[in-house]
Amino acid sequence: MESNFIYDIIEKDIAEGKYSHHIITRFPPEPNGYLHIGHVKSLCLNFGTAEKYGGTCNLRYDDTNPAKEDEEFVGSIENDIRWLGFKWDKLNHASDYFDKMYECAQTLIKKGLAYACSMSAEEIHDTRGTLTEPGKNAPDRDRPAEESLKIFEDMKAGKYGDGEMCIRARIDMASPNINMRDPVIYRVLHMTHQNTGDKWCIYPMYDFAHPLEDAIEGITHSLCTLEFEDHRPFYNWVLESLEWPEPPQQIEFAKLNLSNTIMSKRNIIKLVEAGLVEGFDDPRLCTIAGMRRRGYTPEALKAFCDAIGVSKANSEIGMDQLEFFVRDDLKDKVESRFVILDPIKLTITNYPEGQTEKLVLENSQTVEGMGTREVTFGKHLFVERDDFMEIPEKKYFRLYPGNEVRLKGAYFVTCNEVVKDENGKVTELLCTYDPDTKSGTPGADSRKVKGTIHWVCEDDCIDVPVRQYGLLALPNEETGKNEFNPDSISTFTAKAESSLKDAKAGERFQFFRLGYYIADAVLSRENAPVFNQIVGLKSSYKKG
Ligand code: ATP
Ligand code: MG
Repeated sequence: MESNFIYDIIEKDIAEGKYSHHIITRFPPEPNGYLHIGHVKSLCLNFGTAEKYGGTCNLRYDDTNPAKEDEEFVGSIENDIRWLGFKWDKLNHASDYFDKMYECAQTLIKKGLAYACSMSAEEIHDTRGTLTEPGKNAPDRDRPAEESLKIFEDMKAGKYGDGEMCIRARIDMASPNINMRDPVIYRVLHMTHQNTGDKWCIYPMYDFAHPLEDAIEGITHSLCTLEFEDHRPFYNWVLESLEWPEPPQQIEFAKLNLSNTIMSKRNIIKLVEAGLVEGFDDPRLCTIAGMRRRGYTPEALKAFCDAIGVSKANSEIGMDQLEFFVRDDLKDKVESRFVILDPIKLTITNYPEGQTEKLVLENSQTVEGMGTREVTFGKHLFVERDDFMEIPEKKYFRLYPGNEVRLKGAYFVTCNEVVKDENGKVTELLCTYDPDTKSGTPGADSRKVKGTIHWVCEDDCIDVPVRQYGLLALPNEETGKNEFNPDSISTFTAKAESSLKDAKAGERFQFFRLGYYIADAVLSRENAPVFNQIVGLKSSYKKG
């Protein structure tokens, strides 16, 4: 990213010498699910910004909520960030700071800036007013600091039940910003915490905890999404009230919204739990784990994030834009192979039975130096069913009775006859070839043919499972909300040139004329790869 409003702020801060140390950012996931493409945007921004200004970025688990321990989520987050190629400086937990947060709340109470309030969550909600009406002061608002401090200690000691008592900031119940109307900063919750066990039965609220976490770590710029904009005054109030030196500053940016997918961690978990997808790494999901298995590269994801940039305006990005960058990254990196997704037999009637020959094919149509490979050619071939039409449409240049095409890297063939089964379905194409048209020999192209198709030889091919993917989600016609698309996967048994037998899990190829594919990391076995479609060849998206 060359520039954006966040860089402008940082450059000004650096020029003015606002901080006595280098730029520090943080990526603060709640470990309650798998990271997704939205987090990639945040990761690129936080790590990218730190790198650009010679600073550092911390990974911080935002675990202020006691919740079920989930080692799977924690492990996946670190693995995903490493895979993207980012290196965090410190790995922290928000819960490491509970002692410090408790002290900060005590300080606020002593300063008359917080108080113990016995109202229930419901009463607090009901007295906070509306956008047009001010809230009502709580009866406990003027409780002496000494008394509030004692109650706070008793809360910590377990003398109150859940919801019986809380600590609220003492700001302004008439503030036009509802977040400033004496928000709760500590609540009683008798629950075991994944990191601190049973040490605490009081927990800080997110809005109070977050500025402190940032400040304790010396974060200079705390980048978060737009929905926190209204929370910024409270973020600043906390740090000003505590007279924090060199407080961090919160800067908001618009979330990434991607079309035709399901993004939030919570909704992704629902898909997995309902068994609609194969797991958190289902290649259709936009989790980092899913996109990795699908065959997307870190480079493509970073280029995509770079291109969409950061702004303050919410918008929806089309899936075709993400796919553009995936294709763009792969086009010069991967070798091409012949695979027939939906095969139909093609027999060359004038080619000698029992004879085969080795043909040399380029591994890339566009990049030089990617080498060649040998492929067997013979009398019995397979071609794509799609490459034949009994009654051709206008401008159809591939196989139809009487038409001649080039078999890529081989010869011209002309379709003469078809064989049909009892239902009238075409099962075999009977063709003749012209031995004088062998690719790469003089005069091979002396006649013009308009169609070139690919093929594999029956004597030297393997069956491979191939999984083609559609959009994970489609908008509901009435609500416009994205819903799971049950037709998002289709499986084929393709005929592939035999060299693909050796494909290693995670190896990527272009299947000539079809698209980009990866040997699935989960389902592939030695000498028995299973392929995922990464992305098709054609794009409707034009890079701006
Ligand atoms: P989800 O709703 O999927 O759970 P979240 O915002 O609750 O997402 P967090 O774990 O709190 O997830 O997020 C860690 C960081 O990633 C936060 O700083 C958050 O702002 C950022 N983030 C989450 N979703 C997006 C998104 N769609 N675009 C950009 N940043 C995002
Ligand atoms: Mg969340």
